[in-house]
Amino acid sequence: MDHFLYRDGALFAEDVAISEIAAAVGTPFYVYSTATLLRHFKAFDDALDGMDHLVCYAMKANSNQAVLKTLAQAGAGMDVVSAGEYLRAKAAGVPGDKIVFSGVGKTVSEIRLALEGGIRQFNVESEPEMEVLDAVARSMGKVAPITIRVNPDVDAKTHAKIATGKSENKFGIPIARAREVYRMAAAMPGLEVVGIDVHIGSQLTDLTPFELAYQKVAELTEQLRADGHTIRRLDLGGGLGIPYERSNAAPPLPTDYGAMVQKTLGHLGCEIEIEPGRLIAGNAGLMVSEVIYVKSGEGRDFLIIDGAMNDLIRPAMYEAHHDIIPVVEAEAGAEQQPYDIVGPVCESGDTFAKQRMMPKLAAGDLVAFRSAGAYGAVMASEYNSRALIPEVLVHGDQFAVIRRRPTFDEMINRDTIPEWL
Ligand SMILES: *Cc1c(COP(=O)(O)O)cnc(C)c1O
Repeated sequence: MDHFLYRDGALFAEDVAISEIAAAVGTPFYVYSTATLLRHFKAFDDALDGMDHLVCYAMKANSNQAVLKTLAQAGAGMDVVSAGEYLRAKAAGVPGDKIVFSGVGKTVSEIRLALEGGIRQFNVESEPEMEVLDAVARSMGKVAPITIRVNPDVDAKTHAKIATGKSENKFGIPIARAREVYRMAAAMPGLEVVGIDVHIGSQLTDLTPFELAYQKVAELTEQLRADGHTIRRLDLGGGLGIPYERSNAAPPLPTDYGAMVQKTLGHLGCEIEIEPGRLIAGNAGLMVSEVIYVKSGEGRDFLIIDGAMNDLIRPAMYEAHHDIIPVVEAEAGAEQQPYDIVGPVCESGDTFAKQRMMPKLAAGDLVAFRSAGAYGAVMASEYNSRALIPEVLVHGDQFAVIRRRPTFDEMINRDTIPEWL
C-alpha cells in the first residue's frame, strides 16, 4: 500500500492534493510520501524481528538528503557505493558504524575517506581491491572491517541489466574460490574479516533465487568457521521487487522475505544486514507531468507530456513499465482509448508507454507515474538542456520542496569558457 489515493476524484499524496503541488512548483516534478517511506522501512525492520539486524537503505535508489534523513531518524543504516553517497549519508546524520560501503570500483580516495570518517564494513568485491584496502588501512594505522561479496552463481530471473549474481556478472568473488580468498584476507593485518556479503540483483519477484543464494551462504558460513574465521555478520544485499503493474500478481512481501531469512540463516546466530533500495523508495514516489499536446498520428494518438526520458529513464533503459494515472480521476465507466505516451526529447526511445489505455486526456491535464520513487530522480540528467526536475516531500498535510529546479542561468553558468574564446 502507498499513500497516493484519490479523494473525491482528485489524486492526493497523503493529505496534500497533487494539483496543489503542481500549482506551487510547476511540472514535471517528483513527489515522495514520508508515510510510505517509513512504512516500507518498518516492514523490513519488523520482518527481521527476533534476529540481530540492521536495515541499510541502499541509497542509490533515492539519495535526496530529506529522504535519507527521514530514514536515518527511523534508525536505518545506509548502503553506499561512492564517496558522494558516503558524504550524503554522513550529512543526513548517519554514524559511520551504520554505513556499509559496496561497489566493484572503490578508489583509494574513497577508501581513505570512509576509514577516516568511520565505517561499519567494506563489502570487498575482488582480490585487487582487498590488497589496496589492506595497504591503505595499514598506511593510516587502521584496520578495515570487511565482508567479501561472494557471487553464488544463481539466476535472479530479472532484467539482464540488473542481474548481478551469475558467474558472468562483474560482481563479487566466485563462491567456489571464497575459502581461498578468506584465507588471504585473514593474513592481511590491515583487514578484519567480519562476515559474508551477497547481492544477486534487483527487482526480484520470487523468493526462490534469494533462498538458493542464502543456502549457499549458510554452507559457506559453516565452512569458513571451520577454517577458523569469525563470521558474525551476513549482509544479504537488497533486490526484493515491487509491483510496478497493479494488474500483475504482487511480489513477495518483506514479511515473507524475513521468514525465509530466519529459516535459511537464523540458526547461524549471525547479525543480519539487508540493503533494500527499490522496495523502500519505489512506491513512495510519483513523477507528475502535464500533457502538452495530444497529437493524432497515423492509426495512433500520442500524448506528448512535459516529462521525458532525462527525467525518468527506466522505460528507455530497462523497458520498464510504470502505471500512469490521471491526476483527476476518470468517471466510473468513462471511455478509455489507447495512447502512446511520449516526452519531448529528440529520440524515439523517449517513449514511456505504447498503446496504453487511458481515459481521454487533453492538453493541460496532469498525469502521475506511479512507482517512480526509486531509480527516478537519481538517474535524471539535463539531456536536451532540460532542467533537473524538482523533488517534493509530503508529510501529512505539509509539503516541502526538497530539491528545487535550477534556473537556466545556473545551468549555463556551470560551464566555463576558456580564456582563448
Ligand atoms: C543496487 C544494490 C542494492 C539495492 O537494490 P534494490 O533492488 O534497490 O533493493 C543493494 N545492494 C547492492 C550491493 C546494490 O548494488
